[in-house]
Amino acid sequence: MSALSNRINNLSESQTIKMAKMGRELAAKGVDVISLSFGEPDFHTPEHIKEAAKQAMDKNFTYYTPVAGYPELRKAVVAKLKNENNLDYDVSQIVVSTGAKQAIANAVLCLVNPGEEVIIPTPYWVSYSEVVKLAEGVSVFINTTVEQNFKITPEQLEAAITPKTKLFMFSSPCNPTGSVYSKDELEGLAKVFEKHPHVYIMSDEIYEHINYIDKHESIAQFDYIKDRVVIINGWSKAFAMTGWRIGYTASNKEIATACDKMQGQITSGTCSITQRAGIAAYEGGLESVLEMRAAFKKRRDIVYKLLSEIDGIKLNLPDGAFYFFPNVTSFFGKSYNGKTIKDADELSIFLLEEAHVATVGGDSFGDPTSIRISYAAAEDKLIEAVRRIKEALGKLA
Ligand code: PMP
Ligand code: GLU
Repeated sequence: MSALSNRINNLSESQTIKMAKMGRELAAKGVDVISLSFGEPDFHTPEHIKEAAKQAMDKNFTYYTPVAGYPELRKAVVAKLKNENNLDYDVSQIVVSTGAKQAIANAVLCLVNPGEEVIIPTPYWVSYSEVVKLAEGVSVFINTTVEQNFKITPEQLEAAITPKTKLFMFSSPCNPTGSVYSKDELEGLAKVFEKHPHVYIMSDEIYEHINYIDKHESIAQFDYIKDRVVIINGWSKAFAMTGWRIGYTASNKEIATACDKMQGQITSGTCSITQRAGIAAYEGGLESVLEMRAAFKKRRDIVYKLLSEIDGIKLNLPDGAFYFFPNVTSFFGKSYNGKTIKDADELSIFLLEEAHVATVGGDSFGDPTSIRISYAAAEDKLIEAVRRIKEALGKLA
């Protein structure tokens, strides 16, 4: 019998992290693996941000910080939300955490009681349903397809809400599909939430700056639901700061106080040096962010063209983030070397072994029809990776 709790035994391993690990292990054996499994910008953190961190150490920002973050950092977040998103928040409504990942966990653990329902459109980011499990909530999925650009309709949302619904969780731009909800589409959902005042909304906006259509739109802009929206955001994607571990929630005061209390018992404030770097990032303007976004857009266009040329793959043109989520069902039931591909996870393993390209199967995103391909990699690597994918898929018969 396992000594471990049911809580951990029931939790799935993060597939994004698992596939990245498998790719690294294969590379350590000398195999030339192209890793498109991890959602991580391949750019270095901009110099002015690194410089602020170096100065932070020299100035002895090395002590425990307030649990919710330095006041200057929270002020910088408030200013960002006003200037970039036209949203009014007070410093007391911002809680800075060890990555957006912790911000999500804080919010879910603070809001969801055992047995309460959390509505999650599929495909979703891998950790959402697992954090709901930790809170002993019940995930209720709304399925979307590539044909509807992976976006839910107000009718689908209305049909999923019950008296037990506590929370709705989504990301726009979306990981893993790259779909971006327009202002009108968000308003359509907001009108449904207006009718159901017992439902809270977690709006994960971590890919805000990697958006190739318009300016970013937040569902918190609709005043009649703003008090029930918890915005999740962070520095990892926009500023290429994945290893620094810094993110935040912006919410009503009650939820912010709860997240502060939760975090105070688990991790305390995030790294002092990282927080100083976070201030420099927010105060330093968006020049480097826009450069990275332009590079991502160019890569998206290259990969879209190349993937579209592969027979049997069905895909949408993502408007944001840095992922493709192509439907690969036409390869199910096909075989190579005596092995038959049953589902997307098996296809992803086949691509790792046969093409030496690491991707992630769709099952852990709640959609077993597709695989996720990250294009946060150099152009030559992307071109070679898609060539290898095409060649390997061509072997399946
Ligand atoms: N939300 C989404 C949609 C993500 O893709 C990620 C991946 N990093 C996170 C949250 C967590 O980001 P962080 O690195 O800030 O923990
Ligand atoms: N969010 C990234 C991804 O989806 C990083 C991995 C993770 O944090 O799970 O790949």
